[in-house]
Amino acid sequence: MNRQKSFENGQATLYLVPTPIGNLSEMSPRAVEVLNSADVIACEDTRTSGTLLKHFEVHARLIAYHNFNEESSSRGIVALLEEGKNVALISDAGYPLINDPGQRVVSDVTEHGFNVVPVSGPSAFLNALVASGLVAQPFLFVGFLPQGNGERKKKLMEYRDYPMTMIFYEAPHRIDRMLESCLEVLGDRKCTLARELTKKHEEFIRGTISEVLSVVEQIRGEMVIVVEGKQKSQQDELSEEQILSMVNGYLGEGMSTKDAIKATVKATGLSKNVVYDLVVSQKQ
Ligand code: SAM
Repeated sequence: MNRQKSFENGQATLYLVPTPIGNLSEMSPRAVEVLNSADVIACEDTRTSGTLLKHFEVHARLIAYHNFNEESSSRGIVALLEEGKNVALISDAGYPLINDPGQRVVSDVTEHGFNVVPVSGPSAFLNALVASGLVAQPFLFVGFLPQGNGERKKKLMEYRDYPMTMIFYEAPHRIDRMLESCLEVLGDRKCTLARELTKKHEEFIRGTISEVLSVVEQIRGEMVIVVEGKQKSQQDELSEEQILSMVNGYLGEGMSTKDAIKATVKATGLSKNVVYDLVVSQKQ
């Protein structure tokens, strides 16, 4: 067990300080105060952070904290705390640890009995979640999915039956492939793409996954994707026979197979592939 009375125990402290995700006005007075009072600021990239810190007239010593060698970076920070120095950890944007370096040092610092104190601030995924129009809790923050198609779909399969809203990060050049995987594995659920949060070109695209997919080719910038969790829909209650009987019903009304599948997908919220596969297996 580890109990930390942050401001009473007189221990050296590692502060986790979020930085703006685009709009510099979101840097809080407390964040600037903490950075100014720190003996050392550990950052991802001393050049990027140097520019930001200059803007806020913060002059503490900067060191690089490297994701690719968190172990030795973390040892260095623990050594500084042992000397009684206070350290602030920042990332290029948003919170450290949130798809950014810092996980290792937080565990190591707490294990060594020093304080870890978070400062509140800008968060891309929370902004996206609260403005998405989707249920805000419970939610699952996933961050980046694997880049390979197979691995990505495998990961999504794990989340397919989760009822909570899911939040993903994605790079603009992979957004189409990522949404295609979501559509295939999760079905055509509601989703919101939030891009360029807090910046001049901030935009929210709210719709179904296929609707959002139809416009992603034209959009750029940093983006967060919020996807509805599995609904207590007919998917749970409908048997294969019921789904096929729905398709057959539409066929009986004179629809083509393609249209009957489309109509069934719309009525049930099931994925197109699931309905299609059932129809194919019925024919065999
Ligand atoms: N540490 C950051 C945080 O707290 O959100 C995340 C860093 S991660 C390397 C970068 C990803 O965060 C981007 O690819 C994007 O998905 C998301 N992101 C960061 N800033 C954003 C913004 N202004 N608008 C939308 N997404 C943003």
